Amino acid sequence: MNELQSLKTALRIAEAELQRVREEGESRAHLVDILHEVMGDLPTDEIFHFLARRLARALRLSHASVIRANPGARTGIVVTAFEQPYLHDLEIELERYPEVVAALNGQIPVLIPDLDSSPLYSQLRDSWAREGTRVTVRSVMALPFPIDGETMGVFLLRRTSEEPRFDAADVEFASTVVRSGVAAIQRANAIELARADNHRLEALAHTDPLTQLVNRRALTIRLVAEMERVRRYNAPLSMLLIDLDHFKLINDTYGHIAGDDVLAAVATILQCAVRAVDMVARYGGEEFVVVLPETGRHGAVAFAERIREKIATHAFQLGESQQIHITTSIGVATYPSPRLESVEDLFRAADIALYRAKGNGRNLVCS
Ligand code: GH3
Ligand code: MG
Ligand code: MG
Repeated sequence: MNELQSLKTALRIAEAELQRVREEGESRAHLVDILHEVMGDLPTDEIFHFLARRLARALRLSHASVIRANPGARTGIVVTAFEQPYLHDLEIELERYPEVVAALNGQIPVLIPDLDSSPLYSQLRDSWAREGTRVTVRSVMALPFPIDGETMGVFLLRRTSEEPRFDAADVEFASTVVRSGVAAIQRANAIELARADNHRLEALAHTDPLTQLVNRRALTIRLVAEMERVRRYNAPLSMLLIDLDHFKLINDTYGHIAGDDVLAAVATILQCAVRAVDMVARYGGEEFVVVLPETGRHGAVAFAERIREKIATHAFQLGESQQIHITTSIGVATYPSPRLESVEDLFRAADIALYRAKGNGRNLVCS
């Protein structure tokens, strides 16, 4: 009777244990699934932090950290630590973490169920004994993963002597979590790179390489938006079409490279002269455009006159010793104006005014 009773009790305990293991297995599998979804867009450090926290919870750990280091290095950086949430980029001596060194060198997970009996820890155990250091950690595992090129990371998971020792199943589970985390990091990095590339390409497509001003394409896009604003808010808009006088002669006399330097210098003068809301663009070869939002004809002509004067009096430096002077002709167009409906009309009006300035002797502003 007594024997039957104890058998039943043992069976019940075994069933409960089985159930617990099954549930744990399920929740672990589920965790790996959600990791894939959650981490898609997080920055790398956030992912490390998130993974360390998740691993600590799932494996009921007191200690979980991520260390960044190169194989063979003397020191490493603790990027994040579950047990110290405010810790950030702490340098550590790797000789105190033999499992981390072993994981880095061998590039495989390292499991030490018990520090007290591990040969890896024999030297440290001796020095702890000498110094009388009491160590609370008993069981550790170190899981290496690639960060980029040279640099490796190691997830360092530890349990104290009050907690159960790590076993092979724990290593298997933690490795799976780390692998999916690393995949998420690589994906995040790829997304980040693609974004940066797009941004760079877009900027390139809108920038004139010689002067770093926006080009005609970007100018047109901006003008369409600005004219729409004029229609909505009823504040006028003006445009200056600036053409350097006899520029061909500059090239012919001083060379094309000197000509380029002059163009870049003119761009700087224009850029310095305008307000933050204005836009300076390189329209073509030696032609520039300045867009002046909320500026009528009168203000635009006055501004153009100042620009003309500034350029005419500027000494352009060529090489060490040579200085030259140039002049500009400027056509001004303003929207709204009669028979002016579109961006093309605005360009045409400015071009007609510019043509008049050239015809009237150059170094002139016409509107
Ligand atoms: P105008 O007073 O009638 O405007 O005379 P211009 O010589 O300036 O006019 P034209 O349109 O005949 O010549 C423009 C010159 O600008 C021709 C070309 O060699 C020069 N040019 C155009 N783009 C560049 C460039 O990127 N760099 C250099 N150095 N010169 C350029
Ligand atoms: Mg021209
Ligand atoms: Mg010209």
